[in-house]
Amino acid sequence: QEDLFKNVVSHAKEYGYIFASSEIYDGLSAVYDYGQNGAELKKNIKDYWWKSMVQLHQNIVGIDSAILMHPKTWKASGHVDAFTDPLIDNKDSKKRYRADVLVEDYAEKLNIKALKEITKAKKRFGEAFNEEEFVTTNPRVVGYLADRKRILERLAKSLTDEDLDDVKALIEELEIADPDTGSRNWTEVRQFNLMFGTKMGASAETSTDLYLRPETAQGIFVNFANVQKTGRMKIPFGIAQIGKAFRNEIVARQFIFRMREFEQMEMQFFVRPGDEMKWYEHWKEQRIKWHYSLNLGQENYRFHDHEKLAHYANAAADIEFDFPFGFKELEGIHSRTDFDLKAHEEFSGKKLRFFDPELNENYVPYVIETSIGLDRMFLSVLSSSLKEETLEDGSTRTVLKLPAILAPTKAAILPLVKKDGLPEMAQKIIDDLKWDFKVQYDEKDAIGRRYRRQDAAGTPLCITVDHDSLEDNSVTVRYRDTMEQKRVAISELPKLINAEVDF
Ligand code: ATP
Repeated sequence: QEDLFKNVVSHAKEYGYIFASSEIYDGLSAVYDYGQNGAELKKNIKDYWWKSMVQLHQNIVGIDSAILMHPKTWKASGHVDAFTDPLIDNKDSKKRYRADVLVEDYAEKLNIKALKEITKAKKRFGEAFNEEEFVTTNPRVVGYLADRKRILERLAKSLTDEDLDDVKALIEELEIADPDTGSRNWTEVRQFNLMFGTKMGASAETSTDLYLRPETAQGIFVNFANVQKTGRMKIPFGIAQIGKAFRNEIVARQFIFRMREFEQMEMQFFVRPGDEMKWYEHWKEQRIKWHYSLNLGQENYRFHDHEKLAHYANAAADIEFDFPFGFKELEGIHSRTDFDLKAHEEFSGKKLRFFDPELNENYVPYVIETSIGLDRMFLSVLSSSLKEETLEDGSTRTVLKLPAILAPTKAAILPLVKKDGLPEMAQKIIDDLKWDFKVQYDEKDAIGRRYRRQDAAGTPLCITVDHDSLEDNSVTVRYRDTMEQKRVAISELPKLINAEVDF
Protein backbone atom coordinates (compact mmCIF):
# COMPACT_ATOMS: atom_id res chain seq x y z
CA GLN A 1 0.00 0.00 0.00
CA GLU A 2 2.74 2.40 0.97
CA ASP A 3 4.61 1.41 -2.18
CA LEU A 4 1.53 2.01 -4.26
CA PHE A 5 1.24 5.50 -2.80
CA LYS A 6 4.89 6.26 -3.57
CA ASN A 7 4.40 4.93 -7.09
CA VAL A 8 1.35 7.13 -7.59
CA VAL A 9 3.27 10.22 -6.49
CA SER A 10 6.27 9.54 -8.69
CA HIS A 11 4.17 8.42 -11.65
CA ALA A 12 2.12 11.60 -11.36
CA LYS A 13 5.28 13.62 -11.71
CA GLU A 14 6.96 11.53 -14.40
CA TYR A 15 3.96 11.68 -16.69
CA GLY A 16 3.16 15.37 -16.29
CA TYR A 17 0.17 15.00 -13.99
CA ILE A 18 1.24 16.71 -10.76
CA PHE A 19 4.24 18.81 -9.76
CA ALA A 20 5.09 20.41 -6.43
CA SER A 21 4.19 24.07 -6.55
CA SER A 22 7.15 26.34 -7.38
CA GLU A 23 9.33 23.26 -7.34
CA ILE A 24 12.50 25.08 -8.41
CA TYR A 25 12.33 26.84 -5.05
CA ASP A 26 11.88 23.49 -3.28
CA GLY A 27 8.10 23.63 -3.38
CA LEU A 28 5.44 25.07 -1.14
CA SER A 29 4.03 22.77 1.49
CA ALA A 30 0.68 21.18 0.59
CA VAL A 31 0.35 23.21 -2.61
CA TYR A 32 0.56 21.50 -6.00
CA ASP A 33 0.52 22.31 -9.69
CA TYR A 34 -1.18 20.25 -12.35
CA GLY A 35 0.97 19.54 -15.39
CA GLN A 36 0.03 19.05 -19.02
CA ASN A 37 -1.77 15.76 -18.43
CA GLY A 38 -3.05 16.64 -14.97
CA ALA A 39 -4.75 19.78 -16.21
CA GLU A 40 -6.59 17.73 -18.85
CA LEU A 41 -7.63 15.01 -16.41
CA LYS A 42 -8.82 17.60 -13.94
CA LYS A 43 -10.80 19.40 -16.59
CA ASN A 44 -12.39 16.14 -17.71
CA ILE A 45 -13.43 15.32 -14.14
CA LYS A 46 -14.98 18.78 -13.85
CA ASP A 47 -16.84 18.33 -17.14
CA TYR A 48 -18.09 14.90 -16.08
CA TRP A 49 -19.46 16.32 -12.84
CA TRP A 50 -20.86 19.48 -14.41
CA LYS A 51 -22.59 17.56 -17.16
CA SER A 52 -24.23 15.10 -14.79
CA MET A 53 -25.26 17.84 -12.36
CA VAL A 54 -26.13 20.85 -14.48
CA GLN A 55 -26.71 19.63 -18.02
CA LEU A 56 -28.74 16.57 -17.10
CA HIS A 57 -30.97 18.33 -14.57
CA GLN A 58 -33.46 20.94 -15.69
CA ASN A 59 -33.75 22.17 -12.10
CA ILE A 60 -30.03 22.62 -11.39
CA VAL A 61 -28.06 25.62 -12.65
CA GLY A 62 -24.39 26.44 -12.29
CA ILE A 63 -22.69 29.62 -11.12
CA ASP A 64 -19.13 30.87 -10.68
CA SER A 65 -18.84 33.14 -7.64
CA ALA A 66 -15.79 35.10 -6.51
CA ILE A 67 -13.14 33.76 -4.16
CA LEU A 68 -13.12 37.06 -2.26
CA MET A 69 -16.34 37.72 -0.42
CA HIS A 70 -17.68 40.36 1.94
CA PRO A 71 -16.16 39.66 5.38
CA LYS A 72 -19.61 39.44 6.95
CA THR A 73 -20.13 36.23 4.99
CA TRP A 74 -17.78 34.40 7.33
CA LYS A 75 -19.47 35.74 10.40
CA ALA A 76 -22.82 34.53 9.14
CA SER A 77 -21.43 31.13 8.14
CA GLY A 78 -19.84 30.68 11.53
CA HIS A 79 -16.29 30.52 10.23
CA VAL A 80 -15.22 33.38 12.47
CA ASP A 81 -16.24 34.08 16.05
CA ALA A 82 -18.74 31.29 16.46
CA PHE A 83 -15.99 28.76 16.79
CA THR A 84 -14.33 30.08 19.86
CA ASP A 85 -16.81 28.31 22.11
CA PRO A 86 -16.15 24.71 21.15
CA LEU A 87 -12.51 25.35 21.94
CA ILE A 88 -13.38 26.02 25.51
CA ASP A 89 -16.36 23.75 25.99
CA ASN A 90 -15.34 20.58 24.30
CA LYS A 91 -12.56 18.57 25.91
CA ASP A 92 -11.81 16.61 22.79
CA SER A 93 -11.65 19.73 20.68
CA LYS A 94 -9.43 21.41 23.20
CA LYS A 95 -6.96 18.60 23.01
CA ARG A 96 -6.96 18.75 19.26
CA TYR A 97 -6.56 22.47 19.25
CA ARG A 98 -3.54 22.14 21.52
CA ALA A 99 -2.16 19.59 19.09
CA ASP A 100 -2.64 22.05 16.26
CA VAL A 101 -0.66 24.68 17.99
CA LEU A 102 2.07 22.29 19.03
CA VAL A 103 2.42 20.74 15.63
CA GLU A 104 2.68 24.13 14.02
CA ASP A 105 5.26 25.20 16.54
CA TYR A 106 7.17 22.02 16.14
CA ALA A 107 7.32 22.25 12.37
CA GLU A 108 8.53 25.81 12.55
CA LYS A 109 11.15 25.17 15.18
CA LEU A 110 12.45 22.07 13.59
CA ASN A 111 12.95 23.91 10.34
CA ILE A 112 13.28 20.73 8.38
CA LYS A 113 14.91 22.40 5.44
CA ALA A 114 17.68 23.78 7.60
CA LEU A 115 18.35 20.34 8.98
CA LYS A 116 18.72 18.92 5.50
CA GLU A 117 21.09 21.67 4.49
CA ILE A 118 23.33 21.11 7.48
CA THR A 119 23.50 17.41 6.75
CA LYS A 120 24.32 18.10 3.13
CA ALA A 121 27.02 20.58 4.06
CA LYS A 122 28.50 18.17 6.59
CA LYS A 123 28.71 15.48 3.99
CA ARG A 124 30.32 17.74 1.46
CA PHE A 125 32.92 19.20 3.76
CA GLY A 126 33.43 16.11 5.89
CA GLU A 127 35.53 16.57 9.00
CA ALA A 128 36.32 20.10 7.96
CA PHE A 129 32.87 21.17 9.01
CA ASN A 130 33.95 23.81 11.39
CA GLU A 131 33.02 27.46 11.39
CA GLU A 132 36.48 28.97 11.89
CA GLU A 133 37.97 27.12 8.95
CA PHE A 134 35.48 28.63 6.63
CA VAL A 135 35.98 32.22 7.68
CA THR A 136 38.99 32.33 5.44
CA THR A 137 37.58 30.46 2.51
CA ASN A 138 34.01 31.60 2.08
CA PRO A 139 32.43 33.98 4.55
CA ARG A 140 29.05 33.70 2.89
CA VAL A 141 28.92 29.99 3.52
CA VAL A 142 29.98 30.47 7.10
CA GLY A 143 27.31 33.02 7.78
CA TYR A 144 24.74 30.76 6.26
CA LEU A 145 25.79 27.73 8.24
CA ALA A 146 26.07 29.67 11.48
CA ASP A 147 22.56 30.85 10.97
CA ARG A 148 21.29 27.33 10.51
CA LYS A 149 23.25 26.19 13.51
CA ARG A 150 21.61 28.80 15.68
CA ILE A 151 18.18 27.60 14.60
CA LEU A 152 19.10 24.08 15.60
CA GLU A 153 20.49 25.16 18.94
CA ARG A 154 17.37 27.08 19.69
CA LEU A 155 15.38 24.05 18.74
CA ALA A 156 17.38 21.78 21.00
CA LYS A 157 16.91 24.17 23.89
CA SER A 158 13.25 24.82 23.45
CA LEU A 159 12.12 21.30 22.78
CA THR A 160 12.82 18.84 25.55
CA ASP A 161 12.56 15.13 24.87
CA GLU A 162 9.29 15.14 26.71
CA ASP A 163 7.93 17.82 24.45
CA LEU A 164 8.97 15.86 21.44
CA ASP A 165 7.28 12.70 22.72
CA ASP A 166 4.19 14.68 23.49
CA VAL A 167 4.07 16.16 20.03
CA LYS A 168 4.69 12.81 18.39
CA ALA A 169 1.94 11.16 20.41
CA LEU A 170 -0.42 13.93 19.49
CA ILE A 171 0.43 13.67 15.82
CA GLU A 172 -0.23 9.95 15.96
CA GLU A 173 -3.49 10.51 17.70
CA LEU A 174 -4.53 12.93 14.99
CA GLU A 175 -3.65 10.53 12.25
CA ILE A 176 -5.82 7.73 13.63
CA ALA A 177 -8.67 9.94 14.79
CA ASP A 178 -11.96 8.27 13.99
CA PRO A 179 -13.95 10.61 11.77
CA ASP A 180 -16.99 9.86 13.91
CA THR A 181 -15.50 11.14 17.08
CA GLY A 182 -13.07 13.56 15.56
CA SER A 183 -13.77 14.80 12.09
CA ARG A 184 -16.63 17.18 12.65
CA ASN A 185 -15.52 18.63 15.96
CA TRP A 186 -12.09 18.80 14.63
CA THR A 187 -13.31 20.53 11.52
CA GLU A 188 -15.11 23.16 13.53
CA VAL A 189 -12.11 23.85 15.65
CA ARG A 190 -9.92 24.01 12.60
CA GLN A 191 -12.19 26.50 10.96
CA PHE A 192 -11.38 28.92 13.70
CA ASN A 193 -7.96 29.54 12.29
CA LEU A 194 -7.97 27.82 8.97
CA MET A 195 -8.81 30.80 6.82
CA PHE A 196 -6.13 32.63 4.85
CA GLY A 197 -6.44 36.33 5.47
CA THR A 198 -5.64 39.02 2.95
CA LYS A 199 -6.17 42.75 2.57
CA MET A 200 -8.12 44.77 0.06
CA GLY A 201 -7.25 48.43 -0.44
CA ALA A 202 -4.28 50.65 -1.10
CA SER A 203 -3.08 51.78 2.30
CA ALA A 204 -2.84 50.15 5.70
CA GLU A 205 -5.36 52.57 7.23
CA THR A 206 -8.06 52.20 4.63
CA SER A 207 -7.72 48.56 3.75
CA THR A 208 -10.27 45.89 4.68
CA ASP A 209 -9.41 42.47 6.04
CA LEU A 210 -10.69 39.73 3.79
CA TYR A 211 -10.45 35.97 3.69
CA LEU A 212 -9.85 33.61 0.84
CA ARG A 213 -12.98 31.45 0.92
CA PRO A 214 -12.56 28.15 2.78
CA GLU A 215 -15.53 26.60 0.93
CA THR A 216 -17.47 27.41 -2.22
CA ALA A 217 -20.88 26.87 -0.57
CA GLN A 218 -21.22 30.41 0.79
CA GLY A 219 -20.94 31.88 -2.72
CA ILE A 220 -24.04 29.88 -3.56
CA PHE A 221 -26.00 30.88 -0.45
CA VAL A 222 -25.40 34.60 -0.93
CA ASN A 223 -26.60 34.26 -4.55
CA PHE A 224 -29.69 32.25 -3.65
CA ALA A 225 -32.15 35.08 -4.31
CA ASN A 226 -30.36 36.32 -7.45
CA VAL A 227 -30.47 32.92 -9.08
CA GLN A 228 -33.94 32.00 -7.87
CA LYS A 229 -35.44 35.23 -9.24
CA THR A 230 -33.52 35.62 -12.50
CA GLY A 231 -33.74 31.91 -13.31
CA ARG A 232 -37.38 31.75 -12.12
CA MET A 233 -36.41 28.61 -10.23
CA LYS A 234 -39.07 26.65 -8.37
CA ILE A 235 -38.35 24.56 -5.33
CA PRO A 236 -36.90 21.98 -5.36
CA PHE A 237 -33.92 23.33 -7.30
CA GLY A 238 -30.16 23.27 -7.09
CA ILE A 239 -27.21 25.60 -7.64
CA ALA A 240 -23.87 24.05 -8.55
CA GLN A 241 -20.40 25.47 -8.53
CA ILE A 242 -16.80 24.41 -9.13
CA GLY A 243 -14.08 26.55 -7.68
CA LYS A 244 -11.04 27.05 -5.54
CA ALA A 245 -11.11 26.97 -1.77
CA PHE A 246 -8.29 27.69 0.66
CA ARG A 247 -7.61 26.22 4.09
CA ASN A 248 -4.56 26.76 6.16
CA GLU A 249 -4.44 23.08 7.06
CA ILE A 250 -2.12 22.34 9.95
CA VAL A 251 -1.53 18.67 9.34
CA ALA A 252 -1.27 18.87 5.59
CA ARG A 253 0.18 15.76 4.02
CA GLN A 254 -0.81 12.85 1.88
CA PHE A 255 -0.12 14.59 -1.39
CA ILE A 256 -3.19 16.13 -3.00
CA PHE A 257 -5.52 14.53 -0.45
CA ARG A 258 -5.18 17.47 1.91
CA MET A 259 -4.03 20.69 0.30
CA ARG A 260 -3.97 24.31 1.35
CA GLU A 261 -5.31 25.43 -2.04
CA PHE A 262 -7.79 23.03 -3.56
CA GLU A 263 -10.92 22.85 -5.63
CA GLN A 264 -14.44 21.86 -4.67
CA MET A 265 -17.41 20.78 -6.73
CA GLU A 266 -20.49 21.59 -4.72
CA MET A 267 -24.21 21.56 -5.27
CA GLN A 268 -26.74 23.08 -2.90
CA PHE A 269 -30.23 21.71 -3.38
CA PHE A 270 -33.02 23.86 -1.95
CA VAL A 271 -36.08 22.01 -0.71
CA ARG A 272 -39.31 22.50 1.20
CA PRO A 273 -38.81 22.27 4.99
CA GLY A 274 -39.86 18.80 6.06
CA ASP A 275 -38.86 17.27 2.71
CA GLU A 276 -35.16 17.31 3.48
CA MET A 277 -34.76 13.67 4.51
CA LYS A 278 -36.33 12.45 1.28
CA TRP A 279 -33.91 14.57 -0.73
CA TYR A 280 -30.97 13.67 1.47
CA GLU A 281 -31.55 9.99 0.68
CA HIS A 282 -32.11 10.83 -2.97
CA TRP A 283 -28.77 12.62 -3.30
CA LYS A 284 -26.88 9.97 -1.38
CA GLU A 285 -28.11 7.45 -3.91
CA GLN A 286 -27.46 9.69 -6.92
CA ARG A 287 -23.94 10.52 -5.86
CA ILE A 288 -22.84 6.96 -5.19
CA LYS A 289 -24.27 5.96 -8.59
CA TRP A 290 -22.24 8.73 -10.20
CA HIS A 291 -19.07 7.33 -8.65
CA TYR A 292 -19.94 3.77 -9.67
CA SER A 293 -20.46 4.94 -13.26
CA LEU A 294 -16.72 5.45 -13.66
CA ASN A 295 -16.06 1.74 -13.15
CA LEU A 296 -13.19 2.18 -10.75
CA GLY A 297 -14.55 -0.74 -8.67
CA GLN A 298 -17.61 -0.51 -6.42
CA GLU A 299 -15.66 -2.15 -3.60
CA ASN A 300 -13.58 1.03 -3.40
CA TYR A 301 -16.49 3.08 -2.06
CA ARG A 302 -18.42 3.04 1.17
CA PHE A 303 -20.74 5.32 3.08
CA HIS A 304 -19.86 6.65 6.45
CA ASP A 305 -22.86 8.07 8.28
CA HIS A 306 -22.01 10.74 10.82
CA GLU A 307 -23.32 10.26 14.31
CA LYS A 308 -22.02 13.55 15.59
CA LEU A 309 -23.19 16.44 13.48
CA ALA A 310 -21.97 19.92 12.78
CA HIS A 311 -24.00 22.75 14.24
CA TYR A 312 -25.71 23.38 10.90
CA ALA A 313 -26.63 19.82 9.96
CA ASN A 314 -29.39 17.37 10.83
CA ALA A 315 -27.94 14.52 8.79
CA ALA A 316 -24.56 13.93 7.18
CA ALA A 317 -22.71 11.15 5.42
CA ASP A 318 -19.40 10.81 3.66
CA ILE A 319 -18.67 8.78 0.61
CA GLU A 320 -15.30 7.27 1.44
CA PHE A 321 -12.84 5.94 -1.08
CA ASP A 322 -10.18 3.30 -0.59
CA PHE A 323 -7.12 5.52 -1.15
CA PRO A 324 -3.61 3.97 -1.02
CA PHE A 325 -3.61 4.94 2.67
CA GLY A 326 -7.04 3.44 3.41
CA PHE A 327 -10.68 4.51 3.32
CA LYS A 328 -10.98 8.29 3.64
CA GLU A 329 -13.58 10.95 2.89
CA LEU A 330 -14.00 11.76 -0.77
CA GLU A 331 -17.36 13.50 -0.76
CA GLY A 332 -19.75 14.82 1.86
CA ILE A 333 -23.54 14.85 1.64
CA HIS A 334 -25.08 17.09 4.25
CA SER A 335 -28.54 18.11 5.23
CA ARG A 336 -27.77 21.70 6.25
CA THR A 337 -31.29 22.70 7.31
CA ASP A 338 -32.03 26.43 6.88
CA PHE A 339 -28.99 27.36 8.95
CA ASP A 340 -27.04 29.19 6.24
CA LEU A 341 -29.85 31.11 4.57
CA LYS A 342 -31.27 32.14 7.95
CA ALA A 343 -27.87 33.33 9.11
CA HIS A 344 -27.38 35.36 5.93
CA GLU A 345 -30.85 36.86 6.37
CA GLU A 346 -29.88 37.91 9.84
CA PHE A 347 -26.50 39.37 8.93
CA SER A 348 -27.52 41.03 5.66
CA GLY A 349 -31.04 42.13 6.58
CA LYS A 350 -32.21 40.80 3.18
CA LYS A 351 -34.97 38.26 2.75
CA LEU A 352 -33.77 34.90 1.44
CA ARG A 353 -37.10 33.18 1.01
CA PHE A 354 -39.19 31.35 -1.50
CA PHE A 355 -42.86 31.83 -2.13
CA ASP A 356 -44.29 28.36 -2.60
CA PRO A 357 -47.42 28.70 -4.75
CA GLU A 358 -48.60 25.19 -3.87
CA LEU A 359 -48.54 25.91 -0.15
CA ASN A 360 -49.30 29.58 -0.63
CA GLU A 361 -46.53 30.18 1.87
CA ASN A 362 -43.21 31.98 2.21
CA TYR A 363 -40.34 30.09 3.76
CA VAL A 364 -36.56 29.83 4.07
CA PRO A 365 -35.74 26.65 2.14
CA TYR A 366 -33.83 23.74 3.62
CA VAL A 367 -30.63 22.66 1.93
CA ILE A 368 -29.12 19.35 0.93
CA GLU A 369 -25.52 19.75 -0.07
CA THR A 370 -23.24 17.47 -2.04
CA SER A 371 -19.62 18.51 -1.73
CA ILE A 372 -16.70 16.76 -3.37
CA GLY A 373 -13.04 17.69 -3.49
CA LEU A 374 -11.90 17.80 -7.09
CA ASP A 375 -8.31 17.04 -6.16
CA ARG A 376 -9.36 14.12 -3.97
CA MET A 377 -11.44 12.83 -6.83
CA PHE A 378 -8.36 13.18 -9.04
CA LEU A 379 -6.32 11.17 -6.54
CA SER A 380 -8.98 8.46 -6.32
CA VAL A 381 -9.03 8.14 -10.11
CA LEU A 382 -5.26 8.18 -10.46
CA SER A 383 -4.46 5.77 -7.63
CA SER A 384 -7.05 3.17 -8.58
CA SER A 385 -6.06 3.30 -12.26
CA LEU A 386 -2.35 2.75 -11.86
CA LYS A 387 -1.51 -0.91 -12.47
CA GLU A 388 1.62 -2.96 -12.82
CA GLU A 389 0.88 -5.95 -15.08
CA THR A 390 2.79 -9.08 -15.85
CA LEU A 391 2.26 -10.10 -19.44
CA GLU A 392 2.12 -13.57 -20.97
CA ASP A 393 5.75 -13.45 -22.03
CA GLY A 394 6.79 -12.67 -18.44
CA SER A 395 7.58 -9.00 -19.07
CA THR A 396 5.84 -6.28 -17.10
CA ARG A 397 4.12 -3.10 -18.13
CA THR A 398 2.90 -0.05 -16.24
CA VAL A 399 -0.53 0.99 -17.35
CA LEU A 400 -2.79 3.80 -16.24
CA LYS A 401 -6.26 2.42 -16.78
CA LEU A 402 -8.08 5.74 -16.59
CA PRO A 403 -11.75 5.73 -17.57
CA ALA A 404 -11.59 6.72 -21.25
CA ILE A 405 -13.97 9.63 -20.70
CA LEU A 406 -11.49 11.15 -18.25
CA ALA A 407 -8.24 10.31 -20.06
CA PRO A 408 -6.17 13.42 -20.99
CA THR A 409 -5.44 12.11 -24.48
CA LYS A 410 -8.05 9.95 -26.17
CA ALA A 411 -5.83 8.59 -28.92
CA ALA A 412 -2.18 8.71 -29.94
CA ILE A 413 -1.53 8.78 -33.66
CA LEU A 414 1.70 6.98 -34.48
CA PRO A 415 3.44 6.64 -37.85
CA LEU A 416 5.21 3.27 -37.88
CA VAL A 417 8.34 4.91 -39.30
CA LYS A 418 9.44 8.51 -39.74
CA LYS A 419 9.49 8.36 -43.54
CA ASP A 420 7.73 7.25 -46.73
CA GLY A 421 4.86 9.70 -46.20
CA LEU A 422 3.63 8.02 -43.01
CA PRO A 423 4.15 11.12 -40.78
CA GLU A 424 2.19 13.20 -43.27
CA MET A 425 -0.66 10.72 -43.29
CA ALA A 426 -0.68 10.61 -39.48
CA GLN A 427 -0.78 14.40 -39.41
CA LYS A 428 -3.74 14.39 -41.75
CA ILE A 429 -5.60 12.02 -39.42
CA ILE A 430 -4.84 14.33 -36.50
CA ASP A 431 -6.14 17.34 -38.41
CA ASP A 432 -9.44 15.52 -38.95
CA LEU A 433 -9.83 14.23 -35.38
CA LYS A 434 -8.54 17.15 -33.35
CA TRP A 435 -11.78 19.14 -33.58
CA ASP A 436 -13.62 16.49 -31.60
CA PHE A 437 -10.98 14.70 -29.57
CA LYS A 438 -7.75 15.48 -27.76
CA VAL A 439 -5.25 13.46 -29.80
CA GLN A 440 -1.49 13.39 -29.78
CA TYR A 441 1.21 12.75 -32.36
CA ASP A 442 4.27 10.69 -31.44
CA GLU A 443 6.98 9.46 -33.80
CA LYS A 444 9.95 9.01 -31.46
CA ASP A 445 11.30 5.50 -30.64
CA ALA A 446 10.24 2.04 -31.76
CA ILE A 447 6.51 1.42 -31.93
CA GLY A 448 6.54 -0.95 -28.90
CA ARG A 449 8.11 1.69 -26.69
CA ARG A 450 5.62 4.27 -27.88
CA TYR A 451 2.76 1.93 -26.95
CA ARG A 452 4.18 1.49 -23.45
CA ARG A 453 4.61 5.22 -23.03
CA GLN A 454 0.98 5.81 -23.98
CA ASP A 455 -0.13 2.96 -21.67
CA ALA A 456 1.64 4.62 -18.76
CA ALA A 457 0.24 8.03 -19.65
CA GLY A 458 -3.27 6.59 -19.70
CA THR A 459 -4.13 6.97 -23.41
CA PRO A 460 -6.91 4.47 -24.18
CA LEU A 461 -6.22 4.12 -27.91
CA CYS A 462 -3.16 4.02 -30.15
CA ILE A 463 -3.64 4.45 -33.87
CA THR A 464 -0.75 3.28 -36.01
CA VAL A 465 -0.22 4.35 -39.59
CA ASP A 466 1.86 1.85 -41.62
CA HIS A 467 2.78 1.29 -45.25
CA ASP A 468 -0.46 -0.57 -45.93
CA SER A 469 -2.36 2.48 -44.75
CA LEU A 470 -1.15 4.32 -47.86
CA GLU A 471 -2.85 1.64 -49.97
CA ASP A 472 -5.99 0.70 -48.04
CA ASN A 473 -6.74 3.87 -46.02
CA SER A 474 -6.86 1.76 -42.89
CA VAL A 475 -4.92 1.90 -39.65
CA THR A 476 -4.19 -0.41 -36.72
CA VAL A 477 -6.04 0.48 -33.56
CA ARG A 478 -4.58 -0.84 -30.31
CA TYR A 479 -6.56 -0.86 -27.08
CA ARG A 480 -4.66 0.14 -23.92
CA ASP A 481 -6.37 -2.24 -21.50
CA THR A 482 -6.51 -5.44 -23.55
CA MET A 483 -3.61 -4.64 -25.90
CA GLU A 484 -5.87 -6.08 -28.57
CA GLN A 485 -5.26 -4.74 -32.08
CA LYS A 486 -7.57 -4.44 -35.03
CA ARG A 487 -7.59 -2.97 -38.51
CA VAL A 488 -10.00 -0.08 -38.99
CA ALA A 489 -10.83 2.20 -41.94
CA ILE A 490 -9.68 5.77 -41.26
CA SER A 491 -13.20 7.00 -41.98
CA GLU A 492 -14.47 4.85 -39.08
CA LEU A 493 -12.15 6.41 -36.49
CA PRO A 494 -14.46 9.14 -35.14
CA LYS A 495 -17.20 6.60 -34.49
CA LEU A 496 -14.78 4.20 -32.85
CA ILE A 497 -13.25 6.82 -30.55
CA ASN A 498 -16.68 8.15 -29.69
CA ALA A 499 -17.84 4.72 -28.61
CA GLU A 500 -14.89 4.56 -26.20
CA VAL A 501 -15.28 7.98 -24.63
CA ASP A 502 -19.06 8.22 -24.57
CA PHE A 503 -20.66 9.79 -21.47
P1 ATP B 1 -11.72 16.52 6.14
O1 ATP B 1 -12.50 15.97 7.32
O2 ATP B 1 -11.05 15.47 5.31
O3 ATP B 1 -10.85 17.66 6.48
P2 ATP B 1 -13.97 18.18 5.68
O4 ATP B 1 -15.04 17.37 6.34
O5 ATP B 1 -13.39 19.34 6.34
O6 ATP B 1 -12.81 17.18 5.19
P3 ATP B 1 -15.73 19.50 3.89
O7 ATP B 1 -15.61 20.80 4.57
O8 ATP B 1 -16.98 18.72 4.04
O9 ATP B 1 -14.47 18.60 4.26
O10 ATP B 1 -15.38 19.71 2.35
C1 ATP B 1 -15.99 18.93 1.32
C2 ATP B 1 -14.96 18.19 0.49
O11 ATP B 1 -13.88 19.02 0.13
C3 ATP B 1 -14.32 17.02 1.23
O12 ATP B 1 -15.11 15.87 1.11
C4 ATP B 1 -13.02 16.86 0.49
O13 ATP B 1 -13.17 16.05 -0.67
C5 ATP B 1 -12.68 18.27 0.04
N1 ATP B 1 -11.64 18.85 0.90
C6 ATP B 1 -11.79 19.42 2.10
N2 ATP B 1 -10.63 19.88 2.58
C7 ATP B 1 -9.69 19.60 1.63
C8 ATP B 1 -8.28 19.84 1.52
N3 ATP B 1 -7.62 20.46 2.46
N4 ATP B 1 -7.66 19.41 0.40
C9 ATP B 1 -8.34 18.79 -0.58
N5 ATP B 1 -9.65 18.55 -0.53
C10 ATP B 1 -10.34 18.94 0.55
